[in-house]
Amino acid sequence: MPVLSVDRGGHLLLGILKETVPGETRVALLPESLKSLRSQGIAVTVEAGAGLASGASDTAYIEAGASVTANRDSILANADILPMVNAPAAADQAWLKPGAVVIGFLKPLDAPAALAAAITRPVTLFSMELVPRISRAQSMDALSSMATVAGYKAVIAAADRLPRLFPMLMTAAGTVPQARVFVIGAGVAGLQAIATARRLGAVVEAYDVRAAAGEQVRSLGAKFLDVDLGGISTEGGGGYAAELTEEALDRGRDLITRTAAHSDVIVTTAQVPGRPAPRLIRRAAVEAMRPGSVLVDLAAPAGGNCELTKPGVTQTIGGVTLLAPLNLATEVPVHASQLYARNILNFLALIVKKGVLTVNLDDEVLAGACVAHEGNPVNPRVAKLLEVAQSAAN
Ligand code: NAD
Repeated sequence: MPVLSVDRGGHLLLGILKETVPGETRVALLPESLKSLRSQGIAVTVEAGAGLASGASDTAYIEAGASVTANRDSILANADILPMVNAPAAADQAWLKPGAVVIGFLKPLDAPAALAAAITRPVTLFSMELVPRISRAQSMDALSSMATVAGYKAVIAAADRLPRLFPMLMTAAGTVPQARVFVIGAGVAGLQAIATARRLGAVVEAYDVRAAAGEQVRSLGAKFLDVDLGGISTEGGGGYAAELTEEALDRGRDLITRTAAHSDVIVTTAQVPGRPAPRLIRRAAVEAMRPGSVLVDLAAPAGGNCELTKPGVTQTIGGVTLLAPLNLATEVPVHASQLYARNILNFLALIVKKGVLTVNLDDEVLAGACVAHEGNPVNPRVAKLLEVAQSAAN
């Protein structure tokens, strides 16, 4: 495996760019993140306004030892390390300095063609989505960080829309019953949604195909709904769910329709890595909900769990509000950036030691996260997708 080592005698430059994707509010590193980098002699340059939406002013970056410039292209052309939230735009990719390392949510499997320009350049691209989910890399697991924020925010968004209260209230004017929340998919986002709904005082039920999720659901004070799937294997490896047959999915759909009828809020998060989100919520389930109820489809970026979902669009269907947010983490930019920055810093610790940049693709975390290195795709799935796109274009 190739090893790239860059020792610029303590003159490594790290650039923090202002994100350009519409609606993006996060920033890759905050002023508080710079201490360990500066102590290694790494210079940091920040694009003016990069952290504003996350509560980090240009002055705060300067006070943390960075320089600030409005010249984005000079950062792109000079930085040895570019931690980002989203993938650089094609115009940015053309500026990248040879030998530069770019790290971010690069969407290499969803949109590999958008990285085509950078993949052919003599740079290294690491994707936070591809960081292997092994114990050693837990502190770099940015997908879990963002799922945690999204799970929390989904419940807050639902509570805000719901024309009812969450907790049971016993007042002189009578008793208000608890809201009933149904969480589908008890992974990272789902478990955080359960915990948040419980903290707000709701009664919570949850469903997941992985039996292992049952114990975690119950430990949060929620009821786990079991479905007899006829003994089929539901684990796809790495703790993830397997893609189910239509027959097995139907058993889940029936349970969901029954449970929807008495739920005030549904937060649905079910996903199978690399596949479209399973369509678990039928129109009949939405129609079974009381007017005023709220459904938050966190699987919207992968197409959605509900057959009525339009990703990114809020709809009202028979009095039920259906939210299909594409990136709820952007609505909590301070803490989303804080968690992301810590994930990035932990990742950087694998490639920068004592101010020297070394990309050693023998490291399984680096190899797993590497999209491309020195002009060639490294991740075999990305390479295959690019090949397919190329042959379709010819
Ligand atoms: P995810 O986003 O891929 O899926 C969310 C949930 O949907 C999962 O719990 C999955 O079982 C569920 N699901 C899929 N198909 C379903 C269906 N048809 N019906 C009902 N539910 C369905 O998963 P995630 O939240 O990223 O993580 C899932 C698992 O991975 C968890 O067990 C988690 O503990 C584990 N994990 C491990 C690490 C690590 O070791 N570093 C990090 C993160 C997550």
